[in-house]
Amino acid sequence: MNLSTQKPMPCTSCQLCDDACPEGLATSTLIALIALCRTPSTTGTTHAERLDDLNEKGLMHCTDCGKCTAACPSHLPLADLLEHGKALANAETRERAASAHWKTRFEKRQRRVEAKQRNKRAIKPAIQKPQGALVPQAASSTPVSPALPATRDKAQADIAAAVARVKAKRAAKSAQLAREDTQSK
Ligand code: SF4
Ligand code: SF4
Repeated sequence: MNLSTQKPMPCTSCQLCDDACPEGLATSTLIALIALCRTPSTTGTTHAERLDDLNEKGLMHCTDCGKCTAACPSHLPLADLLEHGKALANAETRERAASAHWKTRFEKRQRRVEAKQRNKRAIKPAIQKPQGALVPQAASSTPVSPALPATRDKAQADIAAAVARVKAKRAAKSAQLAREDTQSK
C-alpha cells in the first residue's frame, strides 16, 4: 500500500521506517535486500541466498500496515516493495517444494529400479540351475540311436530287409528239415 503521492527520492538511511514499524522489523534493511534481489549479484550470492536472508530478517512478519511508507521522508513505496519481496520469497519456497517433490520421486524410482535389478540377479541362478541339470538327464533318458532310420523310406527299406532275412531263415530251416526227413527214410 503506497500512501505517498509525492515523487520518490533516494533512501537516506535515516531509519525512520525502522522506528515506525510496529512489528519491530528493520525495514530499511529489508528494502535494501529486496532491491538487491532485483539486480544481478556482484558478491557471488545467489538469488535463493538473498531470499533466505530476507526470511531470516523477518520479511514474512510484515503485516502490510503501511506505517513505514508513511514515515519515509523520501516518499519511497516501502509497503509495495515489501509485498514484492514477499512474492519473490513465496515463489522461491514453492520452487524448492517442487524440486524436493521431484527429487523424492526420482530417488524412490531409483530405489525401485535397483531393487528389481537385485531381484532379477537373485532369481536368475535359481532358474538356470534346474535347467542345466535337466539337459544331460533329457539327453541320457532319450538317447538318439544312430541306427534309427532318418526317413520314412529308409524305415520301410529296413523293415523289408528284416522280413526278407526272416523268410530266408525259415526257408533254410524248411530245407534242412526236408533233407533230414529224406535221409531218415
Ligand atoms: S508495512 Fe511492514 S515493514 Fe512497514 S511498518 Fe508495517 S509491518 Fe513494518
Ligand atoms: S525511512 Fe525512507 S529514507 Fe529513511 S531509511 Fe527508511 S526507506 Fe530510507
